[in-house]
Amino acid sequence: MRSSDKTTLAGESVDRKRRVSAYETALAQFDAVADRLKLDENLSDLLRACKRELIVHFPVRMDDGRVQTFTGYRVQHNVARGPAKGGIRYHPAVDLEEVRALAMWMTWKCALVNIPFGGAKGGVTVNPAELSRGELERLTRRFATEVSLLVGPEADIPAPDMGTDAQVMAWVMDTLSMHQGYSMPGAVTGKPVPLGGTVGRAEATGKGVAIIAQAALEQAKKPIKGATVAIQGCGNVGYNAALAFQALGATVVALSDRSGGVYQPKGLDCVAVGDCKGETGRCVDYAKASVITNAELLQLPVDILVPAAMEGQITGSNARKIRAKLVVEGANGPTTPEADAILEKAGVTVVPDILANAGGVVVSYFEWVQDFNRYFWDLAEVNRNMEKVLRQAFAEVSATAKHEGTALRTAALMVAVGSVAEAMKLRGIYP
Ligand code: NAD
Repeated sequence: MRSSDKTTLAGESVDRKRRVSAYETALAQFDAVADRLKLDENLSDLLRACKRELIVHFPVRMDDGRVQTFTGYRVQHNVARGPAKGGIRYHPAVDLEEVRALAMWMTWKCALVNIPFGGAKGGVTVNPAELSRGELERLTRRFATEVSLLVGPEADIPAPDMGTDAQVMAWVMDTLSMHQGYSMPGAVTGKPVPLGGTVGRAEATGKGVAIIAQAALEQAKKPIKGATVAIQGCGNVGYNAALAFQALGATVVALSDRSGGVYQPKGLDCVAVGDCKGETGRCVDYAKASVITNAELLQLPVDILVPAAMEGQITGSNARKIRAKLVVEGANGPTTPEADAILEKAGVTVVPDILANAGGVVVSYFEWVQDFNRYFWDLAEVNRNMEKVLRQAFAEVSATAKHEGTALRTAALMVAVGSVAEAMKLRGIYP
C-alpha cells in the first residue's frame, strides 16, 4: 500500500473504501426513492449528478517557511430551490466523492425542512489539529479565495462542518468581504455573533437532534425523561446534543471522540467530559467513567443511539449488534443502506440525518435572513422557530411513512426529492 492510501488522524486510520461509500450510499438512497416516486428518467439522471464541482490545489506558507500544496473542493449539487447551502469540512478523508455525497444530502435536507436553499458542500483534505492557528488562518483565507468563484451571499453560502468552527467562518467572511470592498455578513453562516452571526446557531444542530428524538418518542408514547442515550462524537453536534438531552431529562450514559468513549450507566456529567476534552483533547481522559471503544458504544443497551461523528459507522457488519430501539442520526450518512435494511427488520426506528440534524441549517437560514434584514432576533425566538420547523418536518415525514408503509428515511427522501423534482419541473430546461 502506498503511504498516501492511509492517512492517520490522531492515531485513527482512515479507510479509503469508507469514503467512496458515502457517495454510493447517497446514490443508492436516491435511486430507491426515484423509483418509488416514478421520477422521469431524464430528471432522475440530472438529480443523480452534481451541478458544479470545483477542485482547487493551492499553496499555503507553513510556519517553518515551507510551501505546502493542499487540495480543496466546493460542490453544488442542486440550486433549483434557491442559493446553494452547505458546510466546509477540514478532515484528512475529504475527497470529491465524499463532498458530492454531502452536497446531495444538503439538497434533500433544505427541501425537507422547506427552506429556500439548494445543496452544496466544501472541504479541504487536511488534519486541522496538525496546523498552527496561523497556518489554519492562511489555509482558510486562500481556500476561501479559491472557491470565491462560486461562493457568495446570493449564490452559495458556507457554514461550519467537521473540523471547522465560528472562527474559520469569520476568516472566510472577512476574506470574501475584503475582495468585495465591503462587509458581506450574508456570505457565510455559523459566524461569531459580533460579526452578524445569530444567537443559538452553535448549539442548533445538537439541540435539534434532541428535539427530533423527543418527537419520535412522543409518537411511540414513551417519555424522554429518564431515557438513556449513547452519543458517538463529542464535537459541535454530539456535545450540544448531550446537553440538550440532559435538559430534556434524558440520561446521557456514553460519549466518545476519535480517541474512544466513556461510559457511566448512572449518567455522565457531560459538561465535565467536555471540559476534560477541552483540556487534554480526549474524552477518554475523563476519570469518573469506564473507557470503551467506539464499536462498544454503538452496541450499548440504551434507549437512544446518536451517531454524531462520521459517515459509514453503522454498517452490515455491526447493525445486528445495535441494541437501541431508536437511532437518531446526528452525523450525515452514518448508516449504510445494508444496515438500514437490517435495522428496519429488527424493529429499530432510524430517524434519518436529513431530518435529525437539520436544526443547524434551519438556524443558518435564520442567520442569513437576519443578516439581510440587519435585524436580529433573541434566543427564545430562534429556538421557538427552529422547533416549529423541525416538528412540522417530523410530522410530515411520519405521516408519509405511515401512508406509504415505509421507514422514516424513505419517507423523508420522498418528501424532499419530490419537492426538488417539482421545482425543477416548474423551472423547465434552459434555454
Ligand atoms: P466536529 O469536528 O465538531 O466533531 C466531530 C467529533 O467526532 C469529534 O469529537 C471527533 O473526535 C469525533 N470523531 C471523528 N471521527 C470519529 C470516529 N471515527 N469515531 C468516533 N468519533 C469520531 O464535527 P461536527 O460539526 O460535530 O460534525 C459531526 C457530524 O455532524 C458530521 O457528520 C457533520 O457533517 C454532521 N453535521 C454537522 C452540522 C453542524 O452544524 N456542525 C450540521 C449537520 C450535520
